[in-house]
Amino acid sequence: MGNVGAKEIPQLLSADGRRIDGRRLDELRSITMKVGPLTRADGSAFVEWGENKVMAAVYGPREVHPRHLMQTSKAIIQCRYNMAAFSVDERKRPGQDRRSQEISKVITEAFESVVFTEEFPKTSIDVYIEVLQANAGTRCAGLVAASLALADAGIPMADLVSAVAVGKVAGRIALDLKKEEDNFGEADLPMALVPQSGRLVLIQMEGHMNRDELRQALDLGTKGCREIYERMREALRAKYDTPGRAEPAGVPA
Ligand code: ADP
Repeated sequence: MGNVGAKEIPQLLSADGRRIDGRRLDELRSITMKVGPLTRADGSAFVEWGENKVMAAVYGPREVHPRHLMQTSKAIIQCRYNMAAFSVDERKRPGQDRRSQEISKVITEAFESVVFTEEFPKTSIDVYIEVLQANAGTRCAGLVAASLALADAGIPMADLVSAVAVGKVAGRIALDLKKEEDNFGEADLPMALVPQSGRLVLIQMEGHMNRDELRQALDLGTKGCREIYERMREALRAKYDTPGRAEPAGVPA
């Protein structure tokens, strides 16, 4: 879980079941997604999700750097998740730390399960995720932005990857935790889903849940991922359904 900034523990759930920002337990924060804002990248997307602001850019398939990582039978995917120094309350030390390396790794693995890498041997597909403002759930927002950017770059994939974090807040299972809920709640469980196959390609958990709660959390997270997926498809349609625009090869039918 993220840093605990405040000293006093806020009341996370009101008597009438409302959360700290007025949401119900199964409600997502507001989300906007824009596909293709960066003209120099092969594909890009900007996602504002609650108070998170995340940009993703995709380059490739292109030459592999460093060359010794090259694979003769398929493309490699190289994801780099980075949190800007100004993205959090207290300035974060710039550069890659253990947390961002771990997140980069799990996001790479999620995409390896959907991208048709064997179509582009000896190349690299480079995915940059820049968190400009953070408020919990940034790895999920990063995954969603990167997924849209991959589709925008025309990278062939079995499906888009959707993601959301679920957790346990004041004893209840809740969808899409914000910072205070992540910090002071009992559990945080980010997950990523390939909706058409129903496959989970990322699950991590910090905190405690019993088996029933875990089952409930996975159900709620799956529902949340499907809602996000619809929004992702809408965002792609908003760019590619404009008359005269070509469909990106990466978008599933
Ligand atoms: P995620 O952003 O995927 O939920 P974490 O659970 O590790 O990942 O972090 C939760 C939140 O804690 C982040 O979104 C961010 O708001 C905050 N956070 C994470 N790392 C730092 C840091 N080094 N300094 C300040 N805040 C941080």
